[in-house]
Amino acid sequence: MATTEKSPPTFPMPVAPARGKGFGLASVSPGWRLVLAVLGITTLLWFLGREEVAHAHAFWPWMGPSLLLSVWGVALMAIILLATARSRMIEPLFGGLDRAIRLHRQLAPLAVGAVVVHVILLVPVVMEAGGSVGDLLIPFWSADAATAESLALIALLIWTGLAYAKWLSYEGWLSLHTLIGPIFLIGAGLSFLEEGTTIAAYEPLRFWMWFLLLVGLGAWIYRALLYRWVAPRFNYSLQSLTQLEDDTLDISLRPVDRRVLHEPGTFVFVNRPGQDRKGWELHPFSISSSPTERDLRLSVRMAGDFTRRLTNLEPGEPVEVFGPFGGFTPHRYAGYRRLVCIGAGIGITPFLAMLRFEATNNDFRRIWLWYVVRNEGAAPYDAELRQSVEEADSYVDYELWDSSSRGRLTAAQVMEAVAPLDDYAVMLCGTPAFVEDMRRQFQSLGLSRDRIIAEDFRFR
Ligand SMILES: Cc1cc2nc3c(=O)[nH]c(=O)nc-3n(C[C@H](O)[C@H](O)[C@H](O)COP(=O)(O)OP(=O)(O)OC[C@H]3O[C@@H](n4cnc5c(N)ncnc54)[C@H](O)[C@@H]3O)c2cc1C
Repeated sequence: MATTEKSPPTFPMPVAPARGKGFGLASVSPGWRLVLAVLGITTLLWFLGREEVAHAHAFWPWMGPSLLLSVWGVALMAIILLATARSRMIEPLFGGLDRAIRLHRQLAPLAVGAVVVHVILLVPVVMEAGGSVGDLLIPFWSADAATAESLALIALLIWTGLAYAKWLSYEGWLSLHTLIGPIFLIGAGLSFLEEGTTIAAYEPLRFWMWFLLLVGLGAWIYRALLYRWVAPRFNYSLQSLTQLEDDTLDISLRPVDRRVLHEPGTFVFVNRPGQDRKGWELHPFSISSSPTERDLRLSVRMAGDFTRRLTNLEPGEPVEVFGPFGGFTPHRYAGYRRLVCIGAGIGITPFLAMLRFEATNNDFRRIWLWYVVRNEGAAPYDAELRQSVEEADSYVDYELWDSSSRGRLTAAQVMEAVAPLDDYAVMLCGTPAFVEDMRRQFQSLGLSRDRIIAEDFRFR
């Protein structure tokens, strides 16, 4: 391993508070705390409103739980829409946009599942009342059919299926996926207007549910309709573009007026105004320059359409930057004085920024960094990292891991290199498959969830 000339720290370093593997509130992420709070209020109001519904229907065993699931579904959807709003004001609620996107992936099946079970539980209610199940489930079944609601449910199920369709291009997937919000909200709005539900009968719950629905709608309108006009942006222009090995572009952007102030490890969305493209789509890239540098650097691996066309960026060409976003930054984890960082392929970018910042940040830490590459020819940032290690304030062990000759890096190998210490946190960045695999390995070797900080380069 390449190391700094400095000697390793001999004094005891403060140890991050052990939060253990338990499920105490302290180990719950900000996003999940929000979910628990919103579901808690919703459940309380549903419970308080149960007497109002009991006049029209037997509340137990079907109607009450069915209504509870429907209000949970709407509450979760409102949070999902808030999580994906891409707003710097909102992302702290979730601990960063990257975590918000991950939370949205976990909540979406729960929200849709809640709505489906809600409808299933209505079947016995309708049958007990001598009504028609066809009217409940099938659009246009009769003059009394709940056609609008059942159409909304069918559309929701189809759109949910499309969210997992691998065959769609990212652009196609995104434009279809964006519509799931309004489909859900229209269905929810229609159900709020129905007679005989707790929502209709109990004023505080009605107020709360409409509030959640409007929050979700507002977030969706901001993100899907208004973003390109109203989202705060920074104007940059191309300063230099260098093509490195492994199809990587090093792009340096100069601020035209004010510049992005970022924490190392965060990412921005980029737009090239004036490009003749289908639609308007922002692409996320981690910032690979230090916050102390005037120019903003992006290190981009050419993957498809947008990234390949970056080679034709002209000097001085305007580039719009939105952000910064994300919680993948060591500064949010100040308690962890020992960090194990592993970047695979282009997943090294956030660590480039962190190590460059190390030269000036006056924040001594013990760091181990692995740069995992397919082969030695696919390591465009190896030389830069070695240089940064030399200049770093912290004591850094750096290793280039060539998987073609050494096999895949495993968590067991990392832990062995770091032993006997065990009070470190691990930061992982790379493809979703790499990050998931490493996370699983570390957890199975006993590292607690809250010590694994991960970012994968995926929004889908
Ligand atoms: C938080 C984050 C940070 C990232 N940081 C970097 C980085 O520092 N360097 C780097 O090279 N790449 C980074 N990426 C990946 C980069 O955004 C994609 O490679 C790029 O957008 C691909 O666009 P494309 O049209 O060239 O390729 P495509 O062939 O269209 O897409 C390739 C894959 O990239 C993803 N993708 C495509 N378009 C978008 C989009 N608009 N938004 C989100 N994902 C998209 C999809 O999963 C798609 O399957 C990051 C991604 C995320 C989510």
